[in-house]
Amino acid sequence: MSQTEDLVLAYRILAAHGVVDAYGHVSVRSEREPHRYLLARSMAPELVGADDILEFDLDSNVIRDPGAALYLERYIHGEVYKSRPEVQAVVHNHSPSVIPFGVTSVPLRPLFNTGAFVGEGIPTFEIRDFQESGDLLIKTPHLGASLAKVLGPKPAALMRGHGAVVVGENLPRAVGRSVYLELSARMQMQARLLAGEKGSITYLDEAEVKASVPVQDYNRAWPMWREKALARAKAERG
Ligand SMILES: [Zn+2]
Repeated sequence: MSQTEDLVLAYRILAAHGVVDAYGHVSVRSEREPHRYLLARSMAPELVGADDILEFDLDSNVIRDPGAALYLERYIHGEVYKSRPEVQAVVHNHSPSVIPFGVTSVPLRPLFNTGAFVGEGIPTFEIRDFQESGDLLIKTPHLGASLAKVLGPKPAALMRGHGAVVVGENLPRAVGRSVYLELSARMQMQARLLAGEKGSITYLDEAEVKASVPVQDYNRAWPMWREKALARAKAERG
């Protein structure tokens, strides 16, 4: 199984979980050339195939220009790879349950063990701190680098009024964290509703977060998600 095939399936897995819709993208650092990354041309995630995967340098210039449209927000990927040498995969999404936490003062909190990484802290990127009010897109190296700076060493950052960036030391981890960040946000809202004004929510404590995060490699979920995505892709091709 090639890195390209895994990346194509990652697009489909994220779409199947409602983490990306017609927008959003996922990249991997090239295993042959760590100063490059692989990302699809500008298109809807569910339609991505192996021929759509392009290679970019860390300044987000395409290596062999096929004349295809490129994602305007590819700088998110290049600038995160520059600032985080250990990161091997980056997801940018507009995950619907996560967005409310970027526009309110309510922080995301660690609620269940599979989403314990939330307890490492999820900062919020306010684009108006780095440019005049505009269209919210990360369209320049400056904005990409600013987002990477706000992300710092954390597993994810929210982008106010826009979405999130999620990273991992490998593709399964970045994809798994994206899926569980969406679930965690949804569950936190449900717990809040259930608890009502007077009830309280018991979140994971620091020791629980510390003990849970290292084992969350999503290595059980990934092969299952991958097989399902592969089967769907084959069925589509007929
Ligand atoms: Zn976006």
